[in-house]
Amino acid sequence: MNVAAISPVISTAMPIGPADGARGLYIGGQWMWPEGRAAICVVDPSTEAVLARVPDATVEDAQAAIEAAAGAAEAWRSTPPRRRSEILRRCFELMTARTEDLARLIALENGKALRDARGEVAYAADFFRWNAEEAVRIRGDFALSPTGANHIVVDYEPIGICVLITPWNFPAAMATRKIAPALAAGCTVVLKPASETPLTAYALAALYQEAGVPPGVVNVLTTSAPGPVTAAMLADPRVRKLSFTGSTQIGRVLLAEAAKRVLSCSMELGGNAPLIVFDDADLDVALEGVMLAKMRNAGEACTAANRIYVQAGIYDRFAEALTARMSALKVGPGTDASTECGPMITRAAVGKIERLVDDAVSRGAKLLCGGRRPEGAGFFYPPTVLSEVPHDAVMAHEEIFGPVAALARFETEDEAVAFANATEYGLAAYVFTQDLARGLRVSRRIDTGMVGLNRGLVSDPAAPFGGTKQSGLGREGGAHGVLEFLEAKYIATRL
Ligand code: NAD
Repeated sequence: MNVAAISPVISTAMPIGPADGARGLYIGGQWMWPEGRAAICVVDPSTEAVLARVPDATVEDAQAAIEAAAGAAEAWRSTPPRRRSEILRRCFELMTARTEDLARLIALENGKALRDARGEVAYAADFFRWNAEEAVRIRGDFALSPTGANHIVVDYEPIGICVLITPWNFPAAMATRKIAPALAAGCTVVLKPASETPLTAYALAALYQEAGVPPGVVNVLTTSAPGPVTAAMLADPRVRKLSFTGSTQIGRVLLAEAAKRVLSCSMELGGNAPLIVFDDADLDVALEGVMLAKMRNAGEACTAANRIYVQAGIYDRFAEALTARMSALKVGPGTDASTECGPMITRAAVGKIERLVDDAVSRGAKLLCGGRRPEGAGFFYPPTVLSEVPHDAVMAHEEIFGPVAALARFETEDEAVAFANATEYGLAAYVFTQDLARGLRVSRRIDTGMVGLNRGLVSDPAAPFGGTKQSGLGREGGAHGVLEFLEAKYIATRL
């Protein structure tokens, strides 16, 4: 299957390649494939076939994109909030109307199962609905100074031109979670999506154009040289903000780069989520929660349950029931309606999962199911359960980012909290217990930005998403999301 076969709506907006009507980079409201630019091949992770080609932008293209964002900035920040809100609402409506096309495109280039892709489109679209509502609710402050000498007037202004960088695991949602609040705040942006999944970003750019987002307000470029291209954009004196979602490793590099011009940074980085199941948990609720927290996107989620701690009294029953659920999952191409676990994003990702599983087994973990990659084309890895994973296993400290459930036993509440906090990451955690007092107590003791209590999913456009420790800086979603794109302006006023 190729892009054109999936949907004429999307394929006409798609940069398919120089030979077949390429539209390419989206800069200043124009689709372009600048002279001499190489192509980046987009690969179907289910078959390893090349799906499409997109332009490989250079530093010069990045400068053109910043120029376009700068050119559109003044008009966009002075567009009445109600008008901005209506355009964002239109983006929500168009995305919702095209859920099926967008979901199939995501399933094709990312490999995730269609049901997960549909969920992603709904989540991604909702950032436009939420921020359409936020755009007209940005309020300042007015107060008498305690000295009585003057009034304190605080206004919230758009922070300026923003560079947005997103990963491949949620190609729609990670982009809209930034673009929607940035536009609500009155900022213009340049998005650099991951090279593995650029087609969704470009399809959405066409949709923004159709929704009435003016030329230059959103610009999109793909590149195989993210380091120099990003550095050039961050060096431009007109850029004021970097919003990044990706690994902690690259986040550190970008924080150092942004420090050169003291740029405002929002960082949504890696995770190593603990999931704790107490003896008194409802077994069915906990199993459902683990399946969601572990297997959404086949484990390729920053919030994925990376370490599953189960209390001794329920451990054996839980391990057996989870193994039954995991082994029954249907593995296949994301675009097949019956698939429950799609391929990983690349061969390298499969290699990493294999190494982590081999390491855990060599240290004493027991393999309850899976653990062996299938022969043939596609980057598949089977749903796998490991029991008694020791604390010194590499997977206890690094993101697995795959369909591997790593179980370990604990005895007491204090022990569970200590295990959960033994990581440099602090993105998400999950707690399952029927004792609400215990659930809240443990949730507060775990050092993460988010906790799912008797629930395997935390993402919600109306809630602040983000991490503590080395999982990031700032929050996306909820009332916090738009604040990341605003600057407080204080005017000491004598009336
Ligand atoms: P990555 O860090 O390798 O890449 C993320 C983005 O950064 C991509 O667009 C990539 O091209 C770009 N990039 C890579 N090197 C760069 C450089 N030197 N300068 C500028 N940009 C550069 O991450 P990934 O493999 O695409 O995504 C998986 C990671 O993202 C995981 O660690 C996951 O936990 C994390 N993630 C976090 C969240 C969150 O909200 N906290 C959400 C999704 C994914």
